[in-house]
Amino acid sequence: MQTVTMSRREIIRGLAAGSVVVIAPGCAYNETLGRNQLLFVSQGQMAQLAASAWSDLKKQEKISTDPKYLRRMQRVAPRMIQAAGGDPAQWEVQVFQSDQLNAFALPGGRIGFYTGILDIMENDDQIATVMGHEIAHVNFNHAGERYSQSSLAGAGLTVAQVAVSGSQYQNQILGVLGAGASLGVILPFSRKHELEADKFGVRYMSRARYNPGEAVRFWEKMAAKKSGQPPEFLSTHPSDATRITQLKREVALLGG
Ligand SMILES: [Zn+2]
Repeated sequence: MQTVTMSRREIIRGLAAGSVVVIAPGCAYNETLGRNQLLFVSQGQMAQLAASAWSDLKKQEKISTDPKYLRRMQRVAPRMIQAAGGDPAQWEVQVFQSDQLNAFALPGGRIGFYTGILDIMENDDQIATVMGHEIAHVNFNHAGERYSQSSLAGAGLTVAQVAVSGSQYQNQILGVLGAGASLGVILPFSRKHELEADKFGVRYMSRARYNPGEAVRFWEKMAAKKSGQPPEFLSTHPSDATRITQLKREVALLGG
C-alpha cells in the first residue's frame, strides 16, 4: 500500500487553521438515520480540519488528467451529488493515479477516486455505487461522529489541544478524517457507518436514476478481489456477506 507522510508541521498547521472547535457534548437525533448521533463537532468544523489534509494530499499524490477517467467522473459526480441533496459546485472531485482499489471522501465535500478502482468499474452505475457510499459518509458526518467517539474526544481533548500536542495524535486524526487509507493509516468506519453509507448510497443512486442493482454486482466483485490491504469500505466489519445481504434488501425496496 502506498504511504504518504505528512510532516508534523503540516498537520499542526492544518489543525490550527480549524482550531476553533468548541467541545460541547451533544447527542442529537438524526431523523433520516433514525438514531441518535453523539457529535462534539459540526460538519463545518470537520470540513475545516479536512481542508489542509486534502490540499496536502493533492500535492503529494499524482493527480490524473487522463480524460478517460475524468470524463466518467464528470458525468457521474454532479448527478450523484445533486441526488444526495448537495450542490455540485460546492464539491471537489479528483482522480489519483494509483493501482489502489480505493476511493474516499473527506468532510467538506471532497471526493478522491484512484484509477485502479475506476479500471474495474464496468459502467457509470458502478462509479455511482462508490460515489454514493462516500457522499453518504460525508452527509451524515460519520467522520465527526467517529472523532467524537475516539480517544481524542474521550480524553477530553479539544481539536486545538490535539494540534498543540502534536504528532502523538497525528495518525488518529488523519484516520478520523477519512483520509486514512490513502495516507497509510487505516481507521475503518464502524459497521454501523458502513451499512448506513451503503443504504443511503443506493438510495442516492436510485434518485439519480442509476441502477442500484449494479451496487450488488460491484460489491460482490470487490469482495472476490479482496486480498492484502483491504480498502476502507471493505474493512473487516461488517462482513461482505452482511453488506451484500443488506444491499440486496435495499435494492429490492427501491425496485431495482
Ligand atoms: Zn465506507
